[in-house]
Amino acid sequence: MKPTRPESKAETVRTAAEAAFAAFIQRLAQDASTLRAIDSGEVDAILDPVSGHAILLPAALHRGEVPTNQILATLPREEYQQLLADLEPVTPALGDVLHEPGELIQQIYFPNEGLLVSLQILIENHRALEIGLVGSEGVVGLPWAQGIDTSSVRAVAQGMGTALRLEAARFHEALETCPALQCALHGYTQALIAQVMQTAACNRFHQVEARLARWLLMASDRLQSNPIRFTHEWLADLLGVRRVGVTVAASALQQRGLIQYSRGNITILDREGLKTSACECYQKIKDLFDRD
Ligand SMILES: [Zn+2]
Repeated sequence: MKPTRPESKAETVRTAAEAAFAAFIQRLAQDASTLRAIDSGEVDAILDPVSGHAILLPAALHRGEVPTNQILATLPREEYQQLLADLEPVTPALGDVLHEPGELIQQIYFPNEGLLVSLQILIENHRALEIGLVGSEGVVGLPWAQGIDTSSVRAVAQGMGTALRLEAARFHEALETCPALQCALHGYTQALIAQVMQTAACNRFHQVEARLARWLLMASDRLQSNPIRFTHEWLADLLGVRRVGVTVAASALQQRGLIQYSRGNITILDREGLKTSACECYQKIKDLFDRD
């Protein structure tokens, strides 16, 4: 899914280059405290360990002016400038709950690369169950785009990255005056609904090991990083199984040389092999978001 881009070709190329640069800097930052320091403007340069060079950070990066969130990055500059003053860079910690089911959505989050947000359904006497995953391709708080101010899911932060946060009332106003934002959200809503439907079928019919492989691939696509941080509790929640089920599935993938896991990190060793082990849902969901 790619939103319509009403800006000129030159503008599109410039925005894409800025977004790619911001993503590169986020990957170099490696930890949340460095990202926070960049966001707040405390550091002027960052070391690239490959080249050994210090890379000067443009002032724009400090003020969150160069988002790697794909919805914001594809907005025409005039629309993005309208939103800029109200977008607050934040770095949610692992496990932070952004929205709770039945509660008012007070803030909308546009994740940048490196941040994942799990959308979970809570069923009495059962574990939480993930029904959708949002990364830099999307937005958290989507019901507001349809005029609904209450969340139906729990939204939990995962990964290590920043988001741009917008007060819900301001988001509501922006929808009135930003046609490209409306268009981007319309396309994203369709893709997310399709993802949720595919995930519902996946949770019912596919084996834990194939679902874990699917989730690791989805997470790595969105995080653009290896290894992936995790806890057994988290993986059990997203797959809707007991911890022991996660351990058995992860061990099986590790024994086949596809992943390595230790001390809260999973490293993908053989991506093509992991794709073979994943259920068909991985490719189907990927196609939804890659579609022109
Ligand atoms: Zn599946």
